[in-house]
Amino acid sequence: MKKIIVAIDGYSSCGKSTIAKQLAKYAGYRYIDTGAMYRAVALFAISHQLSATGDQQSAIISLLPNIHIDFALQPDGSQHVLLNGNDVEKQIRTLEVGNMASQVAVIPEVRHFLVAQQQQMGKDGGIVMDGRDIGTVVFPHAELKLFLTASPEVRAERRYKELIEKGEHPVMADVLADVNDRDYRDTHRDESPLRQAEDAVVVDNSTMTREEQMTHIIGIFDSVKEVASQR
Ligand code: C5P
Repeated sequence: MKKIIVAIDGYSSCGKSTIAKQLAKYAGYRYIDTGAMYRAVALFAISHQLSATGDQQSAIISLLPNIHIDFALQPDGSQHVLLNGNDVEKQIRTLEVGNMASQVAVIPEVRHFLVAQQQQMGKDGGIVMDGRDIGTVVFPHAELKLFLTASPEVRAERRYKELIEKGEHPVMADVLADVNDRDYRDTHRDESPLRQAEDAVVVDNSTMTREEQMTHIIGIFDSVKEVASQR
């Protein structure tokens, strides 16, 4: 059977990575979390005391050749992000780094730098990649494109719970404001803004359980794979 490319896009905190991981496991494909790559660049910038505004953007751009991002497979099947060989999986998951990630993500040079690596990772198919521009820019010819969405309130609630589980002490109003800020930046930037590809299948999971959503998506994946294999 042909190994296809699955592109999953959508707003932040829509549960993209959970779905992408489960689908990759089901399919026996590799999973790539492109948000983690933007977060790694953000962490690098923060650790060099750089902000993503004004002339500091050019400092970030000039430092890009010094940024090496890899994914290390863990014994439990999950993947950790390596920034210049160091495991930064935990550090990149904070609100601060997530917010900075959406700021460095508006810099065209940062996007070109990461998109080229993502295209290389998926060139042979057999991949599930999630992000904001996978079906529109990274793999416009992906056999399956999913666009996940849920209301900002539902997403803020989910993110709030995740942060509490990680031992952080978030304030709900801040989390909701952050969700809205990131949505705005993701959809209004000049360079590859978040938008639904015309041929994407939209899944609004505001009122779906994870199981319902997974069953629905696996059904779509199986039929798309079947058709791709007959070509
Ligand atoms: O998906 P995650 O929330 O980890 O992504 C962090 C930020 O990186 C997003 O808010 C978005 O601004 C940016 N991003 C992007 N393009 C991608 C993946 C993430 O612009 N393909």
